[in-house]
Amino acid sequence: MIVCTNKNALLTALDTLKTQGKIIGFVPTMGALHAGHISLIHHSTAECNTTVASIFVNPVQFNNPADLQTYPRTLDADLELLEKNGCDVVFVPQVEDMYPEGTQNLEAYNFGTLETVMEGAFRPGHFNGVAVVVKRLFDLVQPDKAFFGNKDFQQVAIVRELVRRCMLPIEIVACPIVRQSDGLAMSSRNVRLSPEERTQAAKISQTLFAAQTLAQTEILQTVKQYVIDTINAVPELEVEYFDIVDNSTLQSISLWEDAEQAVGCVAVNVGAVRLIDNIAFMR
Ligand code: AMP
Repeated sequence: MIVCTNKNALLTALDTLKTQGKIIGFVPTMGALHAGHISLIHHSTAECNTTVASIFVNPVQFNNPADLQTYPRTLDADLELLEKNGCDVVFVPQVEDMYPEGTQNLEAYNFGTLETVMEGAFRPGHFNGVAVVVKRLFDLVQPDKAFFGNKDFQQVAIVRELVRRCMLPIEIVACPIVRQSDGLAMSSRNVRLSPEERTQAAKISQTLFAAQTLAQTEILQTVKQYVIDTINAVPELEVEYFDIVDNSTLQSISLWEDAEQAVGCVAVNVGAVRLIDNIAFMR
């Protein structure tokens, strides 16, 4: 595995691969890698002949400075995991590499109603920061395919829209959520939970699974209220939002029939840690 710590090293490594006509798969991450990230690497190695990953804690997508400061960083373990799982090239840039002109006055994207809801509404500036870094990474790596996790459901929609608007010849592949054995969606932030919080956090996904069953027989409003009340009844958990949305427009629906595919998206504060999860309602 080639580890590139700056742009020039990355471009040199990619030049060689591209002249060999390799199909390049790209997996952008912020590190502190877990089985969810590694599943994206596996999807890429299955579909492409070269897999490039990036590890970059992107400061401009954090709307909360404490979250940025406490974001877990485990570079040595990450590199070991990537190598063991067939990653060919990893790009680990410094902030100055991605933002040579600084992190202020960056390009501004407008994703319309895709970014005015859920994560976009509760984390001002978050998706602009995501779009800025993803576009810069795409421009450097120029992958054929890029792999993202459905855990960040709204992010996938934003990235697809970015690719569409910028007319980038990149296929976006959305991969399933990888969960712990008790159902908790894997997240780099899970390591910041206390043992008690970690136990209680499983109630988030367990409630979503129960809601999936409830949705077979109940109206949407009943299911919505059930999720909010059940999670809020757990002392360590506080729902920031739960919404049931159309999976392509991301807009809130009030009847199951209003969407071809309805998805329930939740953000929950577990002590000082904010977690997100989502579930598709099959009816
Ligand atoms: P992050 O390092 O949190 O920016 O995540 C990098 C990529 O991994 C994103 O595309 C995430 O959606 C994806 N990812 C994170 N957690 C999971 C998970 N539990 N299952 C599948 N993909 C995930």
